[in-house]
Amino acid sequence: MSTPYNIQQAAVIGAGTMGRGIVISLARAGLSVLWLDSDPCATDAGLAMLAQTWAQQVAKGRIDQVTADACLARVRRATAYADIAEADLVIEAVYESLTLKQDIFRTLDSTLKAQAILASNTSALDIDAIAAVTRRPEQVLGMHFFSPAHVMKLLEVVRGERTSPAVIEAAQALGQRMGKEVVVAGNCPGFIGNRMLVTYVAEARKLLLEGATPRQVDEVLQAFGMAMGPFRMYDVIGIDLEWRARQLADKGTEAPLVQVDNALCAQGRFGQKSGQGYYRYAPGSREAEHDPQVDALVLKVARGLGMHRREIDDEEILERCLLALVNEGAKILEASVASCSADIDRVYLHGYGFPAAVGGPMRWADQQGLSQLLARLERLQGLFGEHWRPAGLLMRLVADGKQLADVREGRA
Ligand code: NAD
Repeated sequence: MSTPYNIQQAAVIGAGTMGRGIVISLARAGLSVLWLDSDPCATDAGLAMLAQTWAQQVAKGRIDQVTADACLARVRRATAYADIAEADLVIEAVYESLTLKQDIFRTLDSTLKAQAILASNTSALDIDAIAAVTRRPEQVLGMHFFSPAHVMKLLEVVRGERTSPAVIEAAQALGQRMGKEVVVAGNCPGFIGNRMLVTYVAEARKLLLEGATPRQVDEVLQAFGMAMGPFRMYDVIGIDLEWRARQLADKGTEAPLVQVDNALCAQGRFGQKSGQGYYRYAPGSREAEHDPQVDALVLKVARGLGMHRREIDDEEILERCLLALVNEGAKILEASVASCSADIDRVYLHGYGFPAAVGGPMRWADQQGLSQLLARLERLQGLFGEHWRPAGLLMRLVADGKQLADVREGRA
């Protein structure tokens, strides 16, 4: 007899990029998985990909055949919601649309047993708005995996306003069982990792318009130790994802900061998948090669926007990108979206390729000395405007002679 949150039987909705990695991670951790997609071809392709992944691991000597067979046997296709009615936990990984996810959660709520936990893998949607359509909001949460989900270590467990502590604990325990680095995050757009990434990428995009090139920005951040600079990262993720989302929502397409991305996508330069993006790629290669045509395109876009370009040195690039990350991190800490600075560091180390030797953006900030860091932010605020206003928490920590590492649940 299982307790309400003894998770043995899982179900995954969606057999796309994320669903596949999540199913592999669950089955590898010993759970039985039922897999449902509205498109039966997607589940077929997903099952074939699973078999291929485990066969490759056997061929490389990473697992034996018995283990591979057992993993595959744990995954079964579901064809209707009734098939998953007895699942202990469902992870939804369908398209990023609030209305679609709400429809699915309504159906899950009316079909699944009362104790079942309902999780969404949304990257940025409001967990409370998803929970609100169910009669069990205390059993609804975010489980935000990173792509590819069977490879990336990070799992953000997103706490909705009404998610119960026992449900958070069950999700944390499951994440650990799956071998993940689990970080609990509050519910806000982008949670911890993507919320910080937005400010970092915005700064990188501003630097392009002001005079830098994609290669220069990437090389500076890679020399600092980032696994990938922001523009190489966009080539990997696909520049077109945000571009399409902006078009679909008919929102943000005119913003100056996305004009380079818009121009690249208009030329079909979506990133690695189309052989060219911010860089160009030889057929079948993932090696990013500098493309002078992109520098020319950046120049053209910047001129079209009336920007006065200038030489930007490497020091300024590093300063602005890292301080943008840290200032947003401090706001996240202040709002208790992350309960401590070490959690933010774990997100960046395990989900975003931040250099392990530096220990994470917040540890880096403490190492700089917070009063010095505050002065640097104030200098940028004077030069570039209000978006550089330092987080109130930083000012209070400096006044009290404390560090970011001293903060717990928004207080030091
Ligand atoms: P995807 O497009 O690869 O796959 C989505 C799948 O959902 C498709 O197979 C589709 O057939 C299925 N689907 C659509 N409507 C359905 C329905 N009503 N019922 C059942 N299945 C349905 O998408 P993805 O990249 O795997 O993203 C899924 C979710 O994960 C999104 O919310 C996304 O924001 C989030 N996410 C994506 C990434 C990423 O890098 N791709 C990273 C983290 C989180």
